[in-house]
Amino acid sequence: MNHKVIIIGCGNVGMSYAYALLNQRTSVTELALIDLDEKRVEGEVMDLNHCLAFAPSHIDIKVGNYEDCRDAQIVVIAAGANQAPGETRMDLIYKNSKIFKTIVTSVIDNGFKGIFLVATNPLDVMTYLTWKYSNFDASRVIGSGTSLDTARLKYLVGAKVGVNPKNVHAYVVGEHGDSEFVPWSNANIGLQNIKTFLKDEELVEICEEVKNAAYEIINRKGATYYGIGMCLVKITNAILGDENTILTVSNYDSHNDVFMGTPAIINSDGVKRRIYIELNEEETKKLQHSMEMIKGAINEIIK
Ligand code: NAD
Repeated sequence: MNHKVIIIGCGNVGMSYAYALLNQRTSVTELALIDLDEKRVEGEVMDLNHCLAFAPSHIDIKVGNYEDCRDAQIVVIAAGANQAPGETRMDLIYKNSKIFKTIVTSVIDNGFKGIFLVATNPLDVMTYLTWKYSNFDASRVIGSGTSLDTARLKYLVGAKVGVNPKNVHAYVVGEHGDSEFVPWSNANIGLQNIKTFLKDEELVEICEEVKNAAYEIINRKGATYYGIGMCLVKITNAILGDENTILTVSNYDSHNDVFMGTPAIINSDGVKRRIYIELNEEETKKLQHSMEMIKGAINEIIK
């Protein structure tokens, strides 16, 4: 079966995703790259094609244009300005919302009928705008959400306790940003509640480390991209493989008219449904606060 993916925005994030796709045995058969910097995309395509001799499966990789979106299954958007040191994800909002209007309109005008996967920050706002500008059913618009934050959490807990991150069953929820949090009341290692392994102070420390991870990386190397590249591949596989995999993506909350990171079941229809998390009083307040942060930012744009 032909599985075509379009990447719009071929900077650090777009290309880390492309490289991760190529290194894993995915069902993607065609990859088209679009960026304002056409010369750079030509170079990226050449470089990726030179991997094929040693790649686990074949992918047709080419410089794309918006007409390629017509028969694509997934359009991944990683275009836009990046966080400068000291800048929050929300600071990017004005620059990136303008870029998104042009991009999403061009994708739709060319007859795209697949699923949008958004990586650009501020993530939840950009996902909401993609939904608004596309007029798609909300199930077909997915943001990477707190999938990266969740991956960071699993790594940090795993390292602290000495277990494989895959056996840490804990999620970061809310905004992909400063108001995100971990509902520890729902966090397990194996089948045991996490509080039997770690003290409250340690949980607070881990949560802060997750939240500040992007800032710490950006201070050292200017940008973060490998982690999000892997998350985007994981979401791509869940969609193309019709996997019904639970991932903390940014998905639509119709009661509050907001996109936000919560665990959701992902398959070939996009977001099949959200998973309900039973939160305690403090966690409910945190989720409410996070939602209000995102809504405030959305209202800045949709006035
Ligand atoms: P980058 O500057 O390396 O790449 C951005 C690319 O977008 C550039 O190549 C630029 O030419 C292109 N671009 C800009 N306007 C465009 C347009 N109208 N059409 C097509 N291409 C356009 O930035 P990056 O490091 O790849 O980061 C991209 C975005 O991803 C940023 O918003 C960043 O904050 C975000 N990000 C998200 C996560 C996450 O967890 N979701 C993680 C890391 C970074």
